[in-house]
Amino acid sequence: MLIKQSKHQTHWCKAPWLHTLLIFIIPLLLVALIHPQIAQYELESKLQQDLALLEQSMLKQTISAATPEGKANLSLLSWSCNEADIALLRSTEFSPKMVRLVQMELANGLKCSNLPSPYNYLAKKTKKIPLTEIKISTSNDQNPFFRDFIFEFPVGEHSLIAITNSTVFNSFLTELCPNCYQVDIQYHGLPLVSRGKQTVSNTKNSRTVSRYIPALDLTQTLNSGDAMYQLFYDKIWLNLVCLSLVLSSLGAISYWHWQQRRISLESMLVNGLKNSEFIPFYQPIIDTRSNQIVGQEMLVRWRRSDGNLVLPNQFIPYAEDSGLIIPITESTLAQVKRDMPKLLGWVSINIVAEHLEKGLLSQWLDKHESCDTQRLCFELTERKPMENFEQATIEIERLASQCQGFKLDDFGTGFGGFSYLQKLGFNSIKIDKMFIDTIGTDDLKAGVLKSIIAFGHESKMEMIAEGVETQVQADYLSERGVYLHQGYLYSQPVGLDELQHFYDLHLNKERAHNTLNKAGFALTRRFPLKKIKFPKPPNLL
Ligand code: C2E
Ligand code: CA
Ligand code: CA
Repeated sequence: MLIKQSKHQTHWCKAPWLHTLLIFIIPLLLVALIHPQIAQYELESKLQQDLALLEQSMLKQTISAATPEGKANLSLLSWSCNEADIALLRSTEFSPKMVRLVQMELANGLKCSNLPSPYNYLAKKTKKIPLTEIKISTSNDQNPFFRDFIFEFPVGEHSLIAITNSTVFNSFLTELCPNCYQVDIQYHGLPLVSRGKQTVSNTKNSRTVSRYIPALDLTQTLNSGDAMYQLFYDKIWLNLVCLSLVLSSLGAISYWHWQQRRISLESMLVNGLKNSEFIPFYQPIIDTRSNQIVGQEMLVRWRRSDGNLVLPNQFIPYAEDSGLIIPITESTLAQVKRDMPKLLGWVSINIVAEHLEKGLLSQWLDKHESCDTQRLCFELTERKPMENFEQATIEIERLASQCQGFKLDDFGTGFGGFSYLQKLGFNSIKIDKMFIDTIGTDDLKAGVLKSIIAFGHESKMEMIAEGVETQVQADYLSERGVYLHQGYLYSQPVGLDELQHFYDLHLNKERAHNTLNKAGFALTRRFPLKKIKFPKPPNLL
C-alpha cells in the first residue's frame, strides 16, 4: 500500500520527455527574446569602435604636415616650381594615396602641382586648425559627398595646398564594413563634408554616433543603416542559436540521463523493498557520567542481493525525494520491533516531516504497540522543510504516551532549528558531527558549538553529541556538560549480532572495572572493539 503511495507521488517522473523538451526549447526561446537587444548592443559598440578608428585616421591625415617629419619634407622643396620641385610633388612623400592634389603656390603667384595643370579654387571660408599653422577650407561643390577638403600649409611667404582623395576615405569605410557607413565631417564654421554611402541615414534601422575632436575642432558623425543592422542581426542570431543549441542539447541530455538514473534507482529501491533488503544497523549512545549504554540510533543499510551493503547517503536522498522513505522506514521499523527485546535502552528512528504531517507513526504504533515500542523515539531533520506544523503538532501530542519522545537531528546545520524546537516542542537536540569535528581546531564553527551547548543548557535541552571520534572530543564535551555521546570512539553502527557483542564486551568490562575511570568507553583501547569493515558500496549514482 505504501509503495503505491510513493509511486503516486512520483507520477511527474512519468513525463520526463516533456521536461526534456522544455529544457531544450527554453534556451532557444530566451535567445529569440534577447537577440534584438544583444544585436543592438553589439552594433553600438562596433560603431563606437569604428568612430574611434576614424578619429585616429583624421588626426593622422590632417596633422601629418605639422609633424617634424612633414616639416623635413617641406624643406626639400626649392620653392621655385622647377622640375625638381614638380618631381618631388609627384613623389609618394608629397602625393601619398590619400592625397589627390598637392600644389605649390609661390609668393609671386606661380603655381605648380602633381597634376599637369594647376588647380584654381576660391575658398569661401577658411579655418585654422588649433595649435598648427594649417588652414582648411572646402571646395565649392553643392553636394557634401563631392565636396573636398583643401588644406593649406604656409611655408614662409609661400604655401603648399593639398586636396584629399575621397576614394581613399571611402575605401577605408568599406574596409570597416562594406556599404554600411556614411560619415559627416563638420569642421566648425565650414560647410559639411560627407563620405560613404549616401542612402544610409534614411533607412529603417539607421543608427548614429557622433564625437567632437577638440584637436581639429570638428564633429564627426558616423551613420549606419539597414545593411549594417542586418549583418549584425544575422551574425549574432547565428552565434546565439549555435550556442543555445549546444546548451539546450547538453541540458536536455543531462536531464534525461539524470531522470533515467533516478527512475532506475527508484525501481531498484522498490525491488529492494519487495526483497526486504533494508536492514537496521544500530549505533550505541553512551552516557559518559555512568558509562552506560542508554540507547542506540537505528541507521538503515541496504543489503543488496549480491551481499554488498549500501550506505544511506547513497539512497536516502532519492528515497526521500520519491516518497519511498515511508515504506523503507515501515520495513525497518518492523525489524526494529523484532529486535527490541534484545536492545538496551531506547531506540531512535530517523523520520521525515511527512511521517508527522500524515500521522503515519501513530498509525503504525496503533497496529504494533507493545511494551517494547514504548522505548522508541524519533529523530527529525530539517532536510525536507515541514509544510504542515499544525498536523505535525497533533501527531506529536498523540504520540506523547506511546513513545520516548522526539529529537531534532543535525541541530545547527539548518536555518530553522530554533523555530522547529519552538513549534514542535522538542526537548532533545543532536549536535551534528560537523560541530564536534571543530573541537581542538581553530575552525570558525567552534564558536557555533559553544553557542549550541550554551543554548542547550539554558533551555534545559537533552543534548546528544554525534560523531565523537576522539577522547579529546569526548572529554571536551563531558567537561561542558554534554554527556550523551554517539560516535566511532565507542562503536560504529553495527548489525544486531555485533551490537550484542558490543554489549557483552561492555558488560564484562563493567564487571571487571567496578570503578570506572574518567575515560569510560575509551577503555575500548584495553578491550578493543572488533571494528566492522564495510564492503565498498556499489556505485549506484
Ligand atoms: P545522521 O542521522 O546524522 O546519522 C549519523 C551519521 O553519522 C551516520 O551515518 C553514522 O554512521 C555517522 N557517524 C556516527 N558517528 C560517527 C563518527 O564518529 N565518525 C563518522 N565519520 N561518522 C559517524 P550513516 O549511517 O551513513 O547515515 C547517514 C544519514 O542517513 C543519517 O545521518 C541519517 O540522516 C540518514 N539515515 C540513516 N538511516 C535513516 C533512516 O532509516 N531514515 C532516514 N530518514 N534517514 C536515515
Ligand atoms: Ca539521525
Ligand atoms: Ca548528523
